[in-house]
Amino acid sequence: MDDGLLAVAEAAKGFMPRQEGLTLYRAGLQAGTVGPLLEIGSYCGKSAVYLGAAARAGGTVLVTVDHHRGSEEHQPGEGYHDRELVDPYTGCLDTLPALRRTLHDAGLDDVVVAVVADSVTAASLCRDRLGMVFLDGSHTPASAIADYEAWMPHLAPGGMLAIHDVFSDPREGGQAPFGIYRRARQRDGFEEVAATGSLRVLRRPSS
Ligand code: SAH
Ligand code: MG
Repeated sequence: MDDGLLAVAEAAKGFMPRQEGLTLYRAGLQAGTVGPLLEIGSYCGKSAVYLGAAARAGGTVLVTVDHHRGSEEHQPGEGYHDRELVDPYTGCLDTLPALRRTLHDAGLDDVVVAVVADSVTAASLCRDRLGMVFLDGSHTPASAIADYEAWMPHLAPGGMLAIHDVFSDPREGGQAPFGIYRRARQRDGFEEVAATGSLRVLRRPSS
């Protein structure tokens, strides 16, 4: 991946370690031959730089969806709260300005389509056959399942499903992403193509 883009990804606030980001980038390169890339959970754009770089290389786009009000763990008093991301006007978390700065610095404004919306609402408007769905939004069990069920009908045969924060051991982290990972593999026949840190990349069967 381009050194300049890598530097922008590293500088952005967020939760995508470099090695996992590079796995995402490689998966995005393959998925881009199938169709557009989609991400749930833009936050400040860290993972969007890796996927946006892949979309640019493949001549496609990345659609990144977030309501920009933060997940449960980003709210005041919670473990991942960042006071710098609170909008003084609303008093709410607002990560959209940071996302736009990251995309500007990366030169990816023309490749990344930022959608400010709830994930399931955005899914109901999607008419495309996607090459990749990357799930990294809310990690409550109900939200993780809702995201999976809402977006899977839009993933093309042979397309990639990436899931972040997959921990098989409850002592390492919440089990909701692991739950949808198992659903994809065991119920829906996805095959695993890459695993780095807590990132898992699966491929939907071609037929
Ligand atoms: N991918 C990011 C991290 C995402 S953090 C990175 O690389 O750093 C999770 C994000 O999911 C938060 O920004 C939160 O606002 C968003 N989110 C949580 N629930 C959501 C929902 N139901 N719809 C849309 N976005 C949601
Ligand atoms: Mg994550």
